[in-house]
Amino acid sequence: MANFVFPAPPQITIPVQGGGAMPVRRVFCVGRNYAAHAREMGGDPNREPPFFFTKPADALVIAGAATPYPPATENLHHEMELVVAIGTGGADIAQAAALDHVYGYAAGLDLTRRDLQDIAKAARRPWDMAKGFDASAPIGTLAPASLIGHPHRGRIALSVNGEPRQLGDLADQIWRVPEIIAALSGLIRLAPGDVIFTGTPDGVGPVVRGDVLRGDIDGVGHVTTNII
Ligand code: MN
Repeated sequence: MANFVFPAPPQITIPVQGGGAMPVRRVFCVGRNYAAHAREMGGDPNREPPFFFTKPADALVIAGAATPYPPATENLHHEMELVVAIGTGGADIAQAAALDHVYGYAAGLDLTRRDLQDIAKAARRPWDMAKGFDASAPIGTLAPASLIGHPHRGRIALSVNGEPRQLGDLADQIWRVPEIIAALSGLIRLAPGDVIFTGTPDGVGPVVRGDVLRGDIDGVGHVTTNII
């Protein structure tokens, strides 16, 4: 037993459909992975290779818990995303082998302080405080690939207070899951428990205190949270 000078933080876990829980190691996110969203953010979907940013593991908001509205923003945006959970780690993973490294999938929200992100972009500064703040990553129950397979197409949608806000299809991802895993594992060694938010379709927009968010991905599951 290590001689810790104060108690170690609790292990972050995501409940798994059918029982058990996955211990989370790291949270990675893909930027601009649907053409219509890349355009609404002012980018060119045809010329940008996949790029990545991160959130702390303890930014996850687990299985329907409430999300406190964060400080230091007046423009908190929803981004509805397919999340991939890595079960088997590796570096330089080939696309053809990439799905063998996937444990399962979940629905998640990449909450973004859009005002701070706009400032960071203009000043060529890091996005960390726009993306990796406390409670910035609500996520639903994890569905094992052994139960649902590997979703390549299907509706991905988000409603706020019952009103549709985002609607897309997984088939419209610019970089598919095998390409994402191949690219990311060429930058860092992936490990069991890593999760990857794979980007949002268009229709991102602001949320405020009191809003109820509900996201659904066909064949995968849902994510829900109340902004408090
Ligand atoms: Mn995103």
